[in-house]
Amino acid sequence: MIWQNVILFFTLFAVSVFVIPWYAYQHGFTLAHWLWFLIAFSFCNLSITAGYHRLWSHKSYQAHKVLRVIFAIGGAFALQNSALHWSSDHRIHHKHVDHDDKDPYSASRGFWFSHIGWMLRNYSTKRYDDYSNCRDLQKDAIVMWQHRYYLPLVLATNIGIPLILGVIYQDVVGMLLIVGVLRLFLSHHSTFFINSLAHIWGTQPYTTKNSARDNGVLAVFTFGEGYHNFHHIFENDYRNGVRWWQYDPTKWLIKTCAWLGLADKLRSVSDLRIELARAKTKLAIAQQRLETAPNGVESKARLTAEFERLAQTLNDYYHTKTQLLETKYDTMMKQYEHSLIKLKLAQLKLELKQRRRHWHLLTKQYA
Ligand SMILES: [Zn+2]
Ligand SMILES: [Zn+2]
Repeated sequence: MIWQNVILFFTLFAVSVFVIPWYAYQHGFTLAHWLWFLIAFSFCNLSITAGYHRLWSHKSYQAHKVLRVIFAIGGAFALQNSALHWSSDHRIHHKHVDHDDKDPYSASRGFWFSHIGWMLRNYSTKRYDDYSNCRDLQKDAIVMWQHRYYLPLVLATNIGIPLILGVIYQDVVGMLLIVGVLRLFLSHHSTFFINSLAHIWGTQPYTTKNSARDNGVLAVFTFGEGYHNFHHIFENDYRNGVRWWQYDPTKWLIKTCAWLGLADKLRSVSDLRIELARAKTKLAIAQQRLETAPNGVESKARLTAEFERLAQTLNDYYHTKTQLLETKYDTMMKQYEHSLIKLKLAQLKLELKQRRRHWHLLTKQYA
């Protein structure tokens, strides 16, 4: 057992559930308490999602020194171990997802294990300090600085920040409780839900090969990390929620940082690969359902043929789209060529619309 973790998690829980309501009843909290709670909570969680996760674990973009320092401080404030250690564990999680022995927080070992249980005992004792899967991060001076001074940074942020706020607003105990304890308790568990709930509860639009799920409710509490099914198949994409209606503030933050010149080389997979992944998953699910059905062989063949037609049209459509973007129309000849491609794209768009609809109707019955 790692007793310091057991004591820490238990204390955070007990103070948040019993002491804080009592203090609220006795003294009350002001709007300032809750405002700073929200700021501190967002600072911690975004440092984990945009920093620890999408930047350092997955290298889905590159960040300016200033941004990396901010994330390193926020990560220590979130008290989830150093960025180096976190990323090392996380890369193993992706490589061996759901593998009982290798995945440090394997969801196949149940909700409690993947949520918190894995941190309460000495996991991976043999490789605890083995960061050979993070050699790239060992070259990042800010990551190594944070790793070396992790404990002082943890104390400075977790005690220092609430203390300063307490002095300013003349309620040291109240600020320590809300910005110190409650913020940390909720920040921990909202992150932990990605390892537990996001592997149990939700849909699997992109792959059924691992337990990861897409979950819009979780995305709200986790700054967009709830789209975990997408993430497990396209882990180097800086986005987790790729549809326009999906809530992914971490993606918006990275994009904003790119506009400000604080981030660049944002990596994303093509729309073609995303749509193909969705279609393939529907095909796999339908084929599995048809395994035991009467006329299964016939229906399977029909589905496969329709999938191939859809895949072909998708390929043609996206290829033509790129072609159109790349064709310059500086001469008369090029202008003519450009309008021909434009026409072809319009036809393909129409065809694709029909194919998508057909595919949707065909696979709906197996969903
Ligand atoms: Zn996962
Ligand atoms: Zn990940």
